[in-house]
Amino acid sequence: MKILLSADDIQRRVAEMARQIADDYRGQPITIIGVLTGCLMFLADLVRHLDLPLRIGLLQASSYRGATTTPGALRVQPELLPDLRGRHVLLLDDILDTGQTLAYLREHLQTLGVASLRIAVLLRKEGRQQALLHVDYRGFDIPDAFVVGYGLDYNDEYRHLPYVAVLSDDIALSPGT
Ligand code: 5GP
Ligand code: MG
Repeated sequence: MKILLSADDIQRRVAEMARQIADDYRGQPITIIGVLTGCLMFLADLVRHLDLPLRIGLLQASSYRGATTTPGALRVQPELLPDLRGRHVLLLDDILDTGQTLAYLREHLQTLGVASLRIAVLLRKEGRQQALLHVDYRGFDIPDAFVVGYGLDYNDEYRHLPYVAVLSDDIALSPGT
């Protein structure tokens, strides 16, 4: 696997993002809603740098089933969500690809009476966005390749890697590892 972003690169950038977010919200309480499962590392690292009163919630929405690039139906699990009425919500995801997932989730969260809604992603794939979506905070722009690590999986593997790497074709094509 080719390492695209080292653990140090990621840690440095996440700390910078936290500073920017804290500056923007100026001490206002926020609710961070992470999109499972890919957000876990990003969320855990970001909140430890965030000097703000905050709540954490999670939601599950999967548009990708199993393998790499075939979008499936989007499913949302509302029972993991805290009450968001009147809250300043920061929706957090690992990667912005086509933008369909976050566009859908933004609409969904808007119906729950939030006071404000911003979006943060660690990665944005260049040249892939289809949905019109404004992202308020993003860590890195990356080329259009399938990446794993730092929360991102291939068939539920590799999420624990502290870096982001491009999955090589021979791993992606090897049967049932
Ligand atoms: P979108 O709706 O923006 O097309 O897709 C977003 C979701 O697709 C991400 O939250 C992530 O779960 C998955 N995804 C998109 N690109 C990649 C990738 O390169 N690697 C991995 N592991 N997941 C990806
Ligand atoms: Mg995801």
